[in-house]
Amino acid sequence: MKKHLLTDKKWNEIINNNSQLDGKFYYGVTTTKIFCKPSCNSKNPNRENVIIFKTIQEAQSMGFRPCKRCHPHGIRLSNEEWIVQVKSYLELNFKKKLNLNTIAEDCHGSPYYLQRTFKNITNQTPLSYLSGLRLNYAKNLLQETELPINKISIDSGFSSDTYFMTFFKKQVGITPSEFRQNLKGDIYG
Ligand SMILES: [Zn+2]
Repeated sequence: MKKHLLTDKKWNEIINNNSQLDGKFYYGVTTTKIFCKPSCNSKNPNRENVIIFKTIQEAQSMGFRPCKRCHPHGIRLSNEEWIVQVKSYLELNFKKKLNLNTIAEDCHGSPYYLQRTFKNITNQTPLSYLSGLRLNYAKNLLQETELPINKISIDSGFSSDTYFMTFFKKQVGITPSEFRQNLKGDIYG
């Protein structure tokens, strides 16, 4: 597919939320996989993460989802669709430092609304879903690699290895080292 250039002009339209260009182009943010109209008043993205689409179809064919705030496809996004979007955002970004505010901001909703809606639909909070993703990733690293525990904790997005070990023990019932040791037992025992 032909790449459309993000010119300085287009970039200015985006950061100034210019509504006169709505319909002329759309922009997507690669870290969130969400696309918007130029006028969207969501947080300004990092310029290097922005790509331009001429049409909605183009954005969707590349796996981008419409923004809940500006609904570029002209249809209000249902809460269910939005939560699918938030989940896939978390799956892409769980290694980064995140909190309820940053997640809400990146997914174009308010923290309160995100917390409530996510819980209604999935029966867990965004942060517990996030911890689950990190835990699964850490388990994989424990299983597949020889990386030290503190490295695994950082790579999986945990704020500290003390927190990682406490959380792991609470969820899995054994420590990360025991978990790794048990797996070895399974293979060679
Ligand atoms: Zn938007």
